[in-house]
Amino acid sequence: MPLFSPRRYQPPFYPTRRDESFPMRAFTTFERTVKGWLFGCRMCGNCILQETAFVCPMTCPKGLRNGLCGGATPEACEVDPSRPCTWYVIYERAERMGRLDKLLEINAPIDGTRAGRETWLDMFNLWRERKQGPYPLDFVTKREKFNGEWDSYFYDLRQPDWWQGDGLYHPPAYDEPNSLLEANLRTGLFVTTGEIAPPLGASGNIILKKVGWLKDYVAAANFTDNASASARMNSMASSKICIDAGMEPVMQLQARDRSRVVIESDAMGAAGLGIRNILCLSGDHHRFGPAPMAKPDQFDMDALQMIWMLRRMRDEGRYLDGRNIKNPPRFFLGAAASPFGAPPKYEAIRAEKKINAGAQFIQTQPIFDHEGFVDWLEALDKRNLLDKVYILAGLIPLKSARAAHFMADDVPGVVVPPEIVKRMDEAGDKDGQQEEGVAIALEMIEKLKNTPGINGMHMMAVHWEAIVPRLVEESGVPRPVIQSLEEVSAEPAGERPANVAQPT
Ligand code: SF4
Repeated sequence: MPLFSPRRYQPPFYPTRRDESFPMRAFTTFERTVKGWLFGCRMCGNCILQETAFVCPMTCPKGLRNGLCGGATPEACEVDPSRPCTWYVIYERAERMGRLDKLLEINAPIDGTRAGRETWLDMFNLWRERKQGPYPLDFVTKREKFNGEWDSYFYDLRQPDWWQGDGLYHPPAYDEPNSLLEANLRTGLFVTTGEIAPPLGASGNIILKKVGWLKDYVAAANFTDNASASARMNSMASSKICIDAGMEPVMQLQARDRSRVVIESDAMGAAGLGIRNILCLSGDHHRFGPAPMAKPDQFDMDALQMIWMLRRMRDEGRYLDGRNIKNPPRFFLGAAASPFGAPPKYEAIRAEKKINAGAQFIQTQPIFDHEGFVDWLEALDKRNLLDKVYILAGLIPLKSARAAHFMADDVPGVVVPPEIVKRMDEAGDKDGQQEEGVAIALEMIEKLKNTPGINGMHMMAVHWEAIVPRLVEESGVPRPVIQSLEEVSAEPAGERPANVAQPT
């Protein structure tokens, strides 16, 4: 077990080229041994220990470099329960050291050409080339100067020119809404989005049928992207079928199984097909998919890095490698949040990073515990985030007592109070359980309608989409009011309502 980090999940990287002299290779081996013993270092060559309270984030099975995943618990990592969650260790140590806000900086994905190579000499050379501190003597005589130079030096090391991540808020660089979902959210009315699981087979007929049920009731519908590491029709094809059927999709795009090149290319392809809403996710680890499991290391990027990269493609018109984009895409970018995943103060940092990177809307995990949800909202409010993002609270209507037990016991990051499970258990036969599930959902919608700081709900009635019209009708939430972007393009900027939902 390393001294300062949890045990690493994957072995260290080795160089992609073997063109170094013997003394240099011996030095690299020495560095790998020492850093492995201290930090569980994987020799990614892109060290961010200065930011992560000296715990190596590359020990995380997903290689997440910007915060924890939705399934993390204080006890263990969701992927490998025999080890603690790396990011819990980072947050806890950063808090003890008074460095929590340092975690706001958006870290780059690794540069593969640096992986496996020594970094100590590189660091020394950069320090010499800069011809400025930090100098050891200043640590004693000019502490403030030393600290400033120390931070700037490590920032240069952490943030290569092609990335330039920071901890600042980057608002979207456009005025007119990029999608119907965005236009509806800007009205200030309570907005509902839905969710449709792409089919297992090649026929899009089931999507057409479900779009028919939903399209008058929700502003857009999400299409999952091989959720739980299980293959289905892909999210982009499903989204295109949805557009052709007359409803706007939210294409979920996850980082798992995609390199940065494929993420850029898929996002651009989606834009070319008219898909505007993209929900960026890191994705479930292959451990949660059906056997046989794919090779374990399938994450080149995390959700945060995707948001940062796609926002820059849209607003700066360039790919990550610097090539200009002649016709930049028009994305409305979203992210997921897990209000019950980690303590709200940690989840709020994660949300702030996503919003700073470019997330314009957030869809949360399903809410069954309204009080806990409000705690999370208050943590976001303390960080002044509620006016920078549209929040759609997750809602799952429970179809059976079995579903309630599954949500309560087997879905990480979801809290189902025991009284809800009890109500479902005591609801009688199948029809009785469904009616109780509808009653519980309607009670929650009533609370959500009156919750300040949110802008609507994301109804995940997956495999029960037919219930959505009834829930919308009986709860009295508004149906989407804007059906065409032409309706809003004439609207003068500045007259849009504030980013706070009105229930009716
Ligand atoms: S729980 Fe998630 S964030 Fe934490 S170490 Fe495991 S994969 Fe990484």
